[in-house]
Amino acid sequence: MGCFIKAALDLVFPRNCVHCGDTIESSSYDFLCSECEQDILPCLPPACKTCGFPFFGAVIGPKVCPHCIDLDPVFDQGKTLFIAKGAGRSLLHHLKYQQGFYVLQDLRKMVTTSRHYLKYIDRASLVPVPLHPTKLRERGFNQSERIAEMLVSTTDENSQVENLLIRQIYTQTQTRLNRLERHQNVKNAFALTPNTVLIPDHQYILVDDVFTTGSTLNACARVLHDAGATRLKVVTIGHG
Ligand SMILES: [Zn+2]
Ligand SMILES: [Zn+2]
Repeated sequence: MGCFIKAALDLVFPRNCVHCGDTIESSSYDFLCSECEQDILPCLPPACKTCGFPFFGAVIGPKVCPHCIDLDPVFDQGKTLFIAKGAGRSLLHHLKYQQGFYVLQDLRKMVTTSRHYLKYIDRASLVPVPLHPTKLRERGFNQSERIAEMLVSTTDENSQVENLLIRQIYTQTQTRLNRLERHQNVKNAFALTPNTVLIPDHQYILVDDVFTTGSTLNACARVLHDAGATRLKVVTIGHG
């Protein structure tokens, strides 16, 4: 959109920050004000190899963060864009619970300015964590698929979205479960989409909106791994 048109539209329909609600005047983003923009905590290297959580300060000892200690990942590596707190959390909530697809353009801006993240998602098949059909009907869309499409749009089409997984068991929301319960809850929830053939040496990257305990992503990775995938990574937008 041209600057002039955008400025004209702002007069008629002022945009509000998805986090604090203030009118947005000068900001790098369309849906975060300049103050809340500062609130975003990017997950930059050095970071946990499994989930991308940044090691603030000196790195001593094993390169695994407290979130991943019990995970035993089936995948090789994980990366995340920012900490899912404050303004970062608001962006993801608008997408997931309020059909705020407009925030994807701000997330895209963040991705295109994070070189380590861009490089990570290049030349791969991005596999969204699927929703159960009942959940998909309720929500109307799969946020992980929307995120995967946005990510592919940053890679000059070197990567593609592939819906290789189905969710065959309707799992209750994980938010009130502890780590072990989460692992059990999703253990057999996923399966390969019928007639899927995986390319053994190809890079597959599982995509989800948030990395919490990694149980869901790991359960998905196990299905791809058992079907012959040898190069598996995971990527998320938020961590927390
Ligand atoms: Zn704000
Ligand atoms: Zn970790």
